[in-house]
Amino acid sequence: MLPLIDLQRQYKSIQKEADAKILEVLSGARYIMGPNVMEFEKAFADYVGTKYAISVGNGTDALVIALKALGIGAGDEVITTSFTFFATGEAISFVGATPVFVDVKPDSYNIDPDQIEAAITEKTKAIMPVHIFGNPADMDEINAIAKAHDLYVIEDAAQAAGASYKGKACGALSDMACFSFFPTKNLGCAGDGGMITTDSEELATIVRALRVHGSGANGRKAKVLLEGGALEVEEETDQAVDNTVYNADKYFNYIIGHNSRLDEIQAALLNVKLPHLDAWNADRVRLAKAYDEAFKDTALVTPYAEEGMIYHMYILQTDDRDKVLAHLAERGIATGVYYQVPMHLQKAFEDLGYKEGDLPVSEYLSGRTFALPLFPGLTDQEQERVIKTLKECL
Ligand SMILES: *Cc1c(COP(=O)(O)O)cnc(C)c1O
Repeated sequence: MLPLIDLQRQYKSIQKEADAKILEVLSGARYIMGPNVMEFEKAFADYVGTKYAISVGNGTDALVIALKALGIGAGDEVITTSFTFFATGEAISFVGATPVFVDVKPDSYNIDPDQIEAAITEKTKAIMPVHIFGNPADMDEINAIAKAHDLYVIEDAAQAAGASYKGKACGALSDMACFSFFPTKNLGCAGDGGMITTDSEELATIVRALRVHGSGANGRKAKVLLEGGALEVEEETDQAVDNTVYNADKYFNYIIGHNSRLDEIQAALLNVKLPHLDAWNADRVRLAKAYDEAFKDTALVTPYAEEGMIYHMYILQTDDRDKVLAHLAERGIATGVYYQVPMHLQKAFEDLGYKEGDLPVSEYLSGRTFALPLFPGLTDQEQERVIKTLKECL
């Protein structure tokens, strides 16, 4: 079976270096908040171009913690897209706020700025665009709406590591941005991992406190900040710690937080992978363009790529999805459907009271889209086979 994404192939390309770094972590016995995490946070902030990058346990936690850091909770509304992975809406509900789903643009599949304005109420606190499939959302329009209505913007950049918008990295285009290092993301680790980027020292401090039980110096400051106070001037950043040494600070807690940290093994692997990310994304773009070319005169709808798109996935539309997917599966080619159910029609969001027909573009897309194998290292022969096999059944 040709998979949608072959993680083994990617691992083999960096195996020597990755194994050495991971073994170093194991024998060094500093597993939590050690030197690899510090190094990766610095490297990732430099890569995205934000002042701060604070790692957390996964991308969903990144969204939850970002929302909490902005003080968003019960009684608040957050406007987001219906055409996304569940975690986007889930995080909003998890903090007690209400996700307000709006429709997407039929070409880019990203949140439609024209629909955001109409969804704003006096309860709205933030807009959460998703750079879906690695395609940058319309951040200028979204930020302008946010500014006019005094709202925060949080990017869900889980699918957009390495993507850019008008020359600036996704993740550096709003108040806070959230990344996931789930293994199949463009920058994936060997388990769960996530990151929050921001230029705000205050928000960075609160995030650092929230990821470790609201304890220590960051916890104390976070409490002051969340209660509307100001930060003292000296800048506090996390230091690498040795958890085998007693640290009294850990046992003074100031706010209710989480246990959500990237671990040293994941950080070590991500430090090895990050320098390859641009080349891997370039390979995705090259392969995507070859698919585009092959399918341009067919009945399939090929992806509309904004400048800066990095093809987290290669998504096509067809009128006859069941037939196409069965044809490919029978011939050993994996496919996937992103997304079967738009958020406003998910059972878990039933309480919100949406019904079929409310967001017609998302609903239309969810009946037509499918993903083809696309990953760095996919060979030309494999891609040729995918193209030939798919064309057979058109
Ligand atoms: C993957 C993903 C997340 C969640 O990330 P996890 O690390 O799996 O928790 C959130 N939003 C989007 C759009 C995603 O694709």
